[in-house]
Amino acid sequence: MFPSFSLRYAHLPSRMSAECAPTRVANPRLVAFNHALAEELGFEAAAFDATEAAEALSGNAPPAGSEPLAMAYAGHQFGNFVPKLGDGRALLLGEVINRDGQIRELQLKGAGRTPFSRGGDGRAPLGPVLREYLVSEAMHALGIPTTRALAAVTTGERIVRRLAEPGAVLTRVASSHLRVGTFQYFAVRKDVEAIQLLADMAIERHYPHLEPLSGGARYLALLEAVIARQAELVARWMGVGFIHGVMNTDNSTISGETLDYGPCAFMDAYDPRTVFSSIDERGRYAFANQPHSAQWNLARFAETLLSLLDDDHDRAIALATDAIEAFPEHFEASYGAIKRAKLGLERVEAGDEALAQELLDAMQAGHADYTLTFRTLADALEDQGENHGKGDDKHDGESRLVALFDTPEAISAWLSRWRERLTREDADAATIAARLRATNPAVIPRNHFVEQALKAADDKDDFAPFEALLAAVTHPFEEPEGELDYTQPPQPSERVLRTFCGT
Ligand code: AMP
Ligand code: MG
Ligand code: MG
Repeated sequence: MFPSFSLRYAHLPSRMSAECAPTRVANPRLVAFNHALAEELGFEAAAFDATEAAEALSGNAPPAGSEPLAMAYAGHQFGNFVPKLGDGRALLLGEVINRDGQIRELQLKGAGRTPFSRGGDGRAPLGPVLREYLVSEAMHALGIPTTRALAAVTTGERIVRRLAEPGAVLTRVASSHLRVGTFQYFAVRKDVEAIQLLADMAIERHYPHLEPLSGGARYLALLEAVIARQAELVARWMGVGFIHGVMNTDNSTISGETLDYGPCAFMDAYDPRTVFSSIDERGRYAFANQPHSAQWNLARFAETLLSLLDDDHDRAIALATDAIEAFPEHFEASYGAIKRAKLGLERVEAGDEALAQELLDAMQAGHADYTLTFRTLADALEDQGENHGKGDDKHDGESRLVALFDTPEAISAWLSRWRERLTREDADAATIAARLRATNPAVIPRNHFVEQALKAADDKDDFAPFEALLAAVTHPFEEPEGELDYTQPPQPSERVLRTFCGT
């Protein structure tokens, strides 16, 4: 049932990774499998066998042709450099070629100790595995570059974290697992040959349009391309209220995919200072600090490339500095476009930025839910259009929007400014409403629903809430059907204030 593996990372010099067999688990059971993704990756659907998949994806019987290895990397964790981190509980099986001819890496996360495990047990608890599954698949459905989740397998063993919890293994799929920290590992060891191999692999896989370039120009272009892609990524996170929570350089990809769903969470009520991660005590990775954190990480990436940029060190620094200083421009351009789209604006006007900011300010002051506010804009707009004058419920959409705010005055005033701006859009209300509903999701993986789903799986071996939530978050632009209304923010008693990495 597995596609064949092409071993690329394994063929790099041996100092770049450590071969490592997974550690057997007692009783593997497949609890989630992403059939659609499997087909994209070239799995044979007709040959699918849950027992075989559980054996292979728990690491008990790695698929034929794979060569499990742990990748070496370093990283700045909350600003402190750690020269040796590496895959402490993840094993790269190898690469497969997907239906579109692209390379995809398959990794087992939680498959046992590796030479990089330090004090860790090499295992992953079920809760964080399911959280990563839900949130990474939601991000993909939202159109945000991300690693994917192919499968979750429980191990039949309990592992001890805060309490004893069921153990699990996640099969993660990425276009590569190259991180800023991978480059840092070799830069601190002055291993220029390895840096160049990594940079060339990154160009081949993620930025093939740079292949014709050579010399310093090639690596400067790589740096600039990674900066642009990371800026775009963070802008997209912010467009959906996503807070990564642990933007260390070892969790910052060269591909521009979201990686590491440890303590991540989506914001409910809009507040740019929001932090969920229990370990982010100073708010280093708070919602509004994310662009700055990404830029900081990219500066660390630039440092690893200096010797490839120019033989003259001062000149290399000047080139890298210019590239890093362009980050805010890339970010603002991406985020500005996203905010305009979230307001249904296609034309560009000078006042658009201020209009968006006024809505955000009203949301912050009125403790309004970020996702629901944007989603309800379409309803408010249709009020004015088709339903106008049709009776008592003509302002239903608008009143639902206003009800999201503690302070109705500010949002009502903003609504008239927005409607006035929309008159210059060359589109009728129905068209703009459709545009808004295709841009502003109805469903995000809200923390309180995620926690409920994880708890049912953990405590009662009940995966029905996980499956129901997964079905909703993978169709984020549709109004969900079913028992629970996943569009709704938490009641005060349901509010989740802290998330844990669960390592
Ligand atoms: P993270 O905070 O998830 O980015 O992980 C940071 C580092 O800790 C990485 O090198 C991980 O491989 C390692 N790590 C996390 N959890 C474990 C674990 N349970 N056992 C071994 N290593 C771990
Ligand atoms: Mg990590
Ligand atoms: Mg992690």
